[in-house]
Amino acid sequence: MSEIPNPIREPEVKYTQIFINNQWVNSVSGKTFPTTNSTNGKKICEVQEGDKADIDKAVEAAKKAFEFGSPWQKMDASKRSALLHKFADLIVRDRLYIASLETLDSGKAFRDSYVWDMATVATLFRHFAGWTDKIQGKTIPIDGTYFCYTRHEPVGVCGQIIPWNFPLLLFALKVAPALACGNTIVLKPAEQTPLTALYAAQLIKEAGFPPGVVNVVPGYGPTAGAAISEHPDINKISFTGSTEVGQTIMAAAAKSNLKRVTLELGGKSPLVVWKDANLDTVVEWAHQAIFFNCGQACAAGSRTYVHEDIYDEFVKKATARAKAKAFGDPFDTKSEYGPQVSQEQFDKVLELIESGKQEGANLECRGQSHGTEGYFIQPTVFSNVTEKMRIGREEIFGPVQSIIKFKDMEEIVTRANDTKYGLAAAIFTEDIDTALTFTSRVKAGRVWVNCYYKSSPAAPFGGFKMSGIGREFGEYNLQAYTEVKTVVMKTSEKL
Ligand code: ADP
Repeated sequence: MSEIPNPIREPEVKYTQIFINNQWVNSVSGKTFPTTNSTNGKKICEVQEGDKADIDKAVEAAKKAFEFGSPWQKMDASKRSALLHKFADLIVRDRLYIASLETLDSGKAFRDSYVWDMATVATLFRHFAGWTDKIQGKTIPIDGTYFCYTRHEPVGVCGQIIPWNFPLLLFALKVAPALACGNTIVLKPAEQTPLTALYAAQLIKEAGFPPGVVNVVPGYGPTAGAAISEHPDINKISFTGSTEVGQTIMAAAAKSNLKRVTLELGGKSPLVVWKDANLDTVVEWAHQAIFFNCGQACAAGSRTYVHEDIYDEFVKKATARAKAKAFGDPFDTKSEYGPQVSQEQFDKVLELIESGKQEGANLECRGQSHGTEGYFIQPTVFSNVTEKMRIGREEIFGPVQSIIKFKDMEEIVTRANDTKYGLAAAIFTEDIDTALTFTSRVKAGRVWVNCYYKSSPAAPFGGFKMSGIGREFGEYNLQAYTEVKTVVMKTSEKL
């Protein structure tokens, strides 16, 4: 782990406007909206509120930047790589400031913003910088008097809509692959956390990307977000967020112009503790799998299934671990997590905790809000959970561990798969057959064995079932940002 420096507790907010054509502009309507500090519910600042008219302007800029003969279109692929690397360098240069801004705007623990989020942003850009000149077509052997080849061309203008739980990391995950493939972008950050995406927009300009290649329009989902999903001149949309909004976006994409769609949505991921697992080690993995980022992660291990032989012992140790958790002020580098992002999320998580109590789960640890201001929730552990209970079935997105008992493989495979989601899963076991049986039968886009959350910019991620469509990260991600054009050419038959 890198050394964690002292955060900047009151980072100056430098950019609050809309970024179009490498220029800062106000919203067409003149409207603004507040972004708030989740440690106390107070306003940080007002941000320009983009709407349909602003999205239209951004799309015009992105279309122009993509046109045949534009500086971006003519740019050598290796130069695109240099720009992506330059952006990563700027993130590293400003890491302390941006991580502090991220913590201010989202409430996430500074140690996570600094160590995890910012490092991942830089490595994502470097990973995709390596792809720019390796996006290659094929020559296809057909009838010998013809020449057939494929070109992997950029899709065009990409609409990108991101959530609030990893604001700049998800900005990077959308922007880096799209740019590597030569596309242009209109991105809308989440209304709860627009500030780091706006700062990053300025770094896009500083890195030397031509005007119009990346446009960032802050605003609300049903207005600015919907304008992106419905836009007839946006060729592809990439969304990360809730399953319900993913469905709305896909319907709008289908109805407007059949824009290409990739979706990374919700989850209720099973983490299975087999009877032979090393208890002390697995208690910590299972704890991190749910409590990381305050439970606000789509891949959170939110159903902890424990074999009946070790169940009681596991519950005892998991509860002790949660009771010892350091949480609170997200700027305190000892805090493992801070507040939920917003009043809405705070209310939703507390309501689900209440439902767990009502529906008969055993509350082993805490289960209440914390403090007198802000959106803090205590680390909470429930045992004797079943999938009939809402906490065993619904995505909570909070610091709530739900522990469920099981007895054999057939049962665990059935129960693990008995969900509309299929994002991630994990099994902890010393037995290779157990691991292989589970990994091949569980329906999830990412399966961990004896670990959780381990990832790499090169390793694809995405969901089965209602957890999404398409894969992000790595080479698989390039498919989402390219169209395959097949050229068939009649060759001369002259001798
Ligand atoms: P969450 O439930 O985690 O807040 P959402 O799916 O509601 O996540 O939001 C994720 C992103 O989707 C945000 O940028 C939000 O503004 C956007 N969004 C919300 N509703 C819509 C919509 N109807 N159309 C397009 N984007 C939307």
